[in-house]
Amino acid sequence: MRMYDIIEKKRDGGKLSQEEITFWIEGYVKGEIPDYQVSSLLMAIFFQGLDDEELTNLTLTMANSGDMIDLSEINGIKVDKHSTGGVGDKTTLIVAPIVAALGGKVAKMSGKGLGFTGGTADKLESIKGYQINIPKEDFIKQVNEIGISLISQSGNLTPADKKLYALRDVTATVESIPLIASSIMSKKIASGADCIVLDVKLGSGAFMKSLEDAKCLAEKMVNIGRLANRETIALITNMDIPLGENIGNSLEVIEAIEVLKGRGPKDLLEVSIELATAMIMLCKQVSQEEARELVKTVISNGEALEKLKQVVEAQGGDVTWIEDTSRFPEAEFKVEVRSPKSGYICNMNTEEIGKVACTLGAGRERKEDTIDYAAGLKVLKKTSDFVNQDDVIAILYTNKEEKIEEAKQKYIQALAFSENGVEKPKLIYEIVK
Ligand code: URA
Repeated sequence: MRMYDIIEKKRDGGKLSQEEITFWIEGYVKGEIPDYQVSSLLMAIFFQGLDDEELTNLTLTMANSGDMIDLSEINGIKVDKHSTGGVGDKTTLIVAPIVAALGGKVAKMSGKGLGFTGGTADKLESIKGYQINIPKEDFIKQVNEIGISLISQSGNLTPADKKLYALRDVTATVESIPLIASSIMSKKIASGADCIVLDVKLGSGAFMKSLEDAKCLAEKMVNIGRLANRETIALITNMDIPLGENIGNSLEVIEAIEVLKGRGPKDLLEVSIELATAMIMLCKQVSQEEARELVKTVISNGEALEKLKQVVEAQGGDVTWIEDTSRFPEAEFKVEVRSPKSGYICNMNTEEIGKVACTLGAGRERKEDTIDYAAGLKVLKKTSDFVNQDDVIAILYTNKEEKIEEAKQKYIQALAFSENGVEKPKLIYEIVK
């Protein structure tokens, strides 16, 4: 078999066999097939796509390219959740304890943030003492004892995805629906959960910019999950506006705690409730209404917050920081952004707002970069809100004084204003089962 023939076949719209996919993925992981040939195939897939059979074969071959996590020693139904990446998306910190408080088993591995999107692993590490890397035996034991462990992706999970993702990133092939679907689902399948809830983000701060594309991605991932024997539900949610108010690692942890304390922004609460509801439907086999009621109950009676404290304590974190969030260190500079004009906010470029948080020190451009946990921003006014000129519309938090003016300008440029009122955008567009 020759890589050349595989590229040519896909370039001309042909269908790749399982043998061809295995040849390509295994050869690439072993370093036998060069980047330039794989880049070429990725571009052919970008234009020609993959049918359902090719997509499932690719996903399973990628999942099997490294360690497959065995969670069989955990009693009960293991449920996982994954977001396609957004700005201000701290829902894992909220839904994981909710689901565990209701008896679901959450053995969750999360990634670090890259570029304008944040990562749950960084957010957890902003809690003093929290150990994100723990031995596999402790991970399993902890989920059996308290129903939840939140750790960082480690070991040799889906090396094929790691190599392919890095190559896609520099060859303009990230935004391909089958390549995104196989990337996400290979990791989910290798992570070992029985059922999966996907949060497919749609809008200016997400990979998917149209409802049609988001639906197509959601359907493909749900289908792969079904074929791999993992019951899967996808929610398509709004990323035209940052979720909640806070963006930046410790700011997001604080906001997640607020939600679990029964406070916090309404949009974040609503999306978190719906994600947790879907997870409970899958692992408890109850109706959506019953699941939603259960979810609301453990928020209002404090059991979900208690579960968060348990996981933080079990992983070496300082629980007093959860009880009293003023213990999280604040950034040295706290700067108001004021509206340049009066009018309705009619658009927010959420990706640009994510980049403002990075400018302030909250994100990393390259994997090796260090981040400032205290840096970030608070979004006080959102799309459809009316503002008067000079109203405070956001607060920036940073330790980099020299970045303040640039960040302010970028934030203002990310907004559009109109004299006419605009409708409040939907938070959840669709649920795909
Ligand atoms: N998230 C992933 O894990 N992979 C992609 O390709 C896109 C988003």
